[in-house]
Amino acid sequence: MEREVINIQNLCVNYGPIRALHDVSLTVNEGEIVALIGANGAGKTTLLRTISGLLKPTSGKVFFEGEDITGKDAEQVVRKHLVHVPEHRQVFATLTVLDNLYLGAFHHYSKSGARIIEEDIKKVFRLFPILEERKRQLAGTLSGGQQQMLAIARGIMSKPRLLLLDEPTLGLAPIVAKEVLELVRELKREFGTTVLLIEQNVFASLKIADRGYVISHGQIVKSGASRELLSDKEVKEAYLGHAVS
Ligand code: ATP
Repeated sequence: MEREVINIQNLCVNYGPIRALHDVSLTVNEGEIVALIGANGAGKTTLLRTISGLLKPTSGKVFFEGEDITGKDAEQVVRKHLVHVPEHRQVFATLTVLDNLYLGAFHHYSKSGARIIEEDIKKVFRLFPILEERKRQLAGTLSGGQQQMLAIARGIMSKPRLLLLDEPTLGLAPIVAKEVLELVRELKREFGTTVLLIEQNVFASLKIADRGYVISHGQIVKSGASRELLSDKEVKEAYLGHAVS
């Protein structure tokens, strides 16, 4: 039987009087890439921020590997290896690439020990060779695409059992964006990483995802296997545009 990594039940989130999420339920199973699709302002980022403990829901439940983590703080959540890579590739600009990677492992350093961390760094460098070339360089001097790779690599150093990726290709040139998405697929192949992904390029995200959920005005309006969503008339009209024509 498939093992649920995240199970969200009837989640509602408000910003003051504004309801951003209404009765959202979804699951992500172990080893899956699941895409969250929706227009600007649909509530995608709000959902990821609520899962990772940055926002508190008004009602509903979030279960992570069977444990109720609803309303827990972000720091408690990341210790459970539920890792959020937010929008706008937030790297520590004045630290080197290597130090950014070490910081990713900070919360489990005492438990894992130096040897495991060094092994993870080697794995990350196998996946992102450009980061090894630049390991002594300050992160703020990397290109946009390289910074995005570093943000994801730092997420991997946290040993994610679930990786929440918010717009990993935002602002990148199309060819670099493609490379970053291919790396997400590679993460699944290499590490078996489970991913919940928000991606502006809906076509590209469904191409790498196993399943998807469509969110509109804070509600889930459709879900299914990626290949079904790719051929769904409403999804095509609303989100795929010229990508399929
Ligand atoms: P985008 O693709 O543009 O990032 P999104 O689907 O991620 O959009 P959210 O950022 O989750 O959407 O926003 C959902 C709704 O909540 C929007 O109507 C937005 O204006 C509102 N919202 C988001 N953040 C806040 C906030 N801090 N205060 C008030 N309203 C907010």
